[in-house]
Amino acid sequence: MSDQNGSQERYEIIIVGAGPAGQSAALYAGRSRIPTLVLERGIAGGQLWNTAEVEDYPGFEHIMGPDLAERMQKHAEKFGARFEAAEVESIGVDGDNRVVRTADGREFRAPAVIVTAGGEARKLGVPGEEELAGKGVSYCAVCDGAFFEGAEIAVVGGGDSAVEEGTFLTRYGSRVHLIHRRGEYRAQPILVEQMRATDRVEEVLNTTVEEIHGTDGRVSKLTLRNVETDEPSELGVSAIFPFVGFTPHSDVFDPEVAARFELDESGHIVTDQAMRTAVPGIFAAGDVRSQFVRQITNAVGDATTAALAAHQYVEHLKHARAKQPA
Ligand code: NAP
Repeated sequence: MSDQNGSQERYEIIIVGAGPAGQSAALYAGRSRIPTLVLERGIAGGQLWNTAEVEDYPGFEHIMGPDLAERMQKHAEKFGARFEAAEVESIGVDGDNRVVRTADGREFRAPAVIVTAGGEARKLGVPGEEELAGKGVSYCAVCDGAFFEGAEIAVVGGGDSAVEEGTFLTRYGSRVHLIHRRGEYRAQPILVEQMRATDRVEEVLNTTVEEIHGTDGRVSKLTLRNVETDEPSELGVSAIFPFVGFTPHSDVFDPEVAARFELDESGHIVTDQAMRTAVPGIFAAGDVRSQFVRQITNAVGDATTAALAAHQYVEHLKHARAKQPA
């Protein structure tokens, strides 16, 4: 269980991804005094960095996503989990070891791996989106909202993220246009109420974005289409924030491992109630996992289960090895 650079550090659990699920699994694995390594390619906290305000995490009536991320990180580190910056390229199996290879050529081995790799914002897939990314097209309100003080802002989607981040963006925009392809929201009613209470969100329902246009290399206008009347229209905006769902990072496995997993129709990993995947020693929790809802609270809860189940798996493996004749 050493890496190829010769480190003699031994790990029994490797956690891939340090969002709320990874941080919670690290906390529980650390408290179990089991040598734990967490690999994260970006900043620990995952989607919390894309979440402006959190009001549904028990004990915190209101906290900014990045603040919660930092608190979770400190808390997990306190119990001894080691965090390393590394992009995981593949997860494979070699006998009783699970083998994690990183983009910088390192290899880590441990009997158990917990995959909490989350996912990333789904794109609209319309002309102009890619070209104008970072020039008015943004997937992170908390990161980029302040650049659009006093501007007309569009938000796309009808789920919790769109409604919540749209409400947050009213702090900056002179007006926020919430463009949703249906007449009803998927978002929780309380979030819709909060958004309407701001009185600064223009709801553009039954409408899709067809194209994002730029002037001098920055977003200036959208072409929209009403899906009921098929009427096109134009909307002048300086920024567009698509919040149209999430693509899970479930494609990190060696082909022979991937072939043994079940994925749901949107690519999330299916597990049993102990967060075990179909491959012994590989567990999954958080947004990468197939589940009914994707909240911080259930990511944290499922990661707790994953850490304790992984601990039990490692202990069983040790006992089984100890019983084998020398
Ligand atoms: P989501 O719930 O999957 O909603 C995606 C929204 O985007 C839907 O309204 C969908 O429309 C729309 N959409 C999808 N593809 C589109 C396209 N190509 N063009 C236009 N619209 C499109 O995703 P989410 O809001 O990112 O949330 C993901 C998960 O995180 C959910 O489980 C959510 O509850 C959770 N979450 C929770 C909180 C919170 O509790 N505070 C905050 C953020 C996220 P349709 O409705 O027509 O399908």
